[in-house]
Order: sequence, then C-alpha cells, then structure tokens
Amino acid sequence: MTKSNSDKIKERLIAERESLMAKLSGNDLSVDASETPDPVDLAVRNYSKNVMLAVSENESRQVILINEALERIADQEYGACQNCEKEINPKRLDAVPWARYCLECQELVEQGLLEEE
Ligand SMILES: [Zn+2]
Repeated sequence: MTKSNSDKIKERLIAERESLMAKLSGNDLSVDASETPDPVDLAVRNYSKNVMLAVSENESRQVILINEALERIADQEYGACQNCEKEINPKRLDAVPWARYCLECQELVEQGLLEEE
C-alpha cells in the first residue's frame, strides 16, 4: 500500500470516528426521576432507551474497530487479515475500511467458528 493511499484511509477512518462520536455523545438517555409518567409512556420510553443503547453499543464497537485499524496503519500492518494474515481484498477494505478479517475469515466469525479476540 502506498503512503498516500494509507493517508486517505486514515482520513476516512478519522472522519468516520468523529461522526460516530458525535452520534454517541448526542444520545441523551437521562430520565427525569421526579416525573411520574403513565405506564404506556414509560414503556415507550424504555423501549426507545433500549434501542438507543443497542445502537450505541454497535457504534462503540465500531469506534474500537476504527481505532484498531488506525493502529494497524501506524504499524504498517493495515490490510492484512487478523486471522490468516492474508491480504484483505482492496474492494472489501474500500467498503469496510475497519475490516479486521478477509471475507473467508469473516464468514467463520459470523458462523461462530472463529473466536474474535
Ligand atoms: Zn483471513
């Protein structure tokens, strides 16, 4: 991978991380305890709270993946599968710049056959 290429990926990753962080910090989950909402309202609120939590869990995870990808760029290991060490398909990296695994290994992860660190 050329230097300018990895710089571009780095910029993309950092921009992506910033927008995730903005989303995460925008999640206001605080509920005013002094209120006495009716049960329906409460149920709706709990539901959306759970959805929000699930969303921020995904996003937090993605931030971690992005940080890892940035470390790999710094270590000049970017683009190698974290399992089999083969080169990850550039098209895959273009679509998912924070990918840890090549497609084959990713499938193993999804089938539960490969344990993620
Ligand atoms: Zn692999």
